[in-house]
Amino acid sequence: MPTLHTQALILRSVDFGESDLILHLLTPDTGRLTVIAKGARRSKKRFPGTLDFFNHLDVQIERRRPTSMARLEHARLRRTLHGPRSDPRRFALGCYLLELLDRLAPEGGARVDHRRLFAFGLGALELIDARSPDPGLRVLLEVRALDALGLGPELTRCVRCGEVPEGNAGPVGFHVGDGGPYCSRCLAEGQHLLPVHVGTLRALQQSRSLPTRQLGRLALRGGALEEARILVTRFLRFHVGLDLRSVAFLDAQLTPPNANGRLPPRPPEPIPTGGAR
Ligand SMILES: [Zn+2]
Repeated sequence: MPTLHTQALILRSVDFGESDLILHLLTPDTGRLTVIAKGARRSKKRFPGTLDFFNHLDVQIERRRPTSMARLEHARLRRTLHGPRSDPRRFALGCYLLELLDRLAPEGGARVDHRRLFAFGLGALELIDARSPDPGLRVLLEVRALDALGLGPELTRCVRCGEVPEGNAGPVGFHVGDGGPYCSRCLAEGQHLLPVHVGTLRALQQSRSLPTRQLGRLALRGGALEEARILVTRFLRFHVGLDLRSVAFLDAQLTPPNANGRLPPRPPEPIPTGGAR
């Protein structure tokens, strides 16, 4: 990569030395890419008004030697997404998604994966720019982030035999470790599965057919929201295992305090089903 012209979102920014910035970028050509922006802090003319979170940029990047860090040479502002800067809920969800992508987006890999991930990142920020999020939108965006990273859960078929679980007799069991539901035949005594209604799984699956920036058309509420929230929280904890710095702030912004002014407790631990549904 002698010279690369591409688009970028800033995932992370760290001061370096007296005058430079180290930036983690997300680009449709490289996925996550670490670059140094020389002189970015010393001179405001070097990158005027561009190197901020929630900016969609055109960038020129150079790597002079294969082993050296890539250098950001030019950045041009395509668009600033103002919503996250003016609303704490949008800011909290935007920061959370940027941190999630920064920690999980691979450096290197196939270009088709980079393009999918960049399209998700940009679409998610545009959605947050356009509307203030609620807990349901957070869950839908978390599923889509996992999908974009190639880590999404199975939501329609039994992960052991491929049958479509029937939900007529109440909730089915979702196996967090295996990443999907079990049908009644594959359930065994003593397994610890999350109870979840087929309707909740269907609602999450249907959300996958919408472009990211249109996810606000769907509303997860009541019991379905609670089930989906617990399922996705557990899934993220098990398969991603990250302690993201932005989670506590996001929880505080998107979860209304109860009458005592305290936040509700975190989701309960898995319920043993004993093989029955
Ligand atoms: Zn099965």
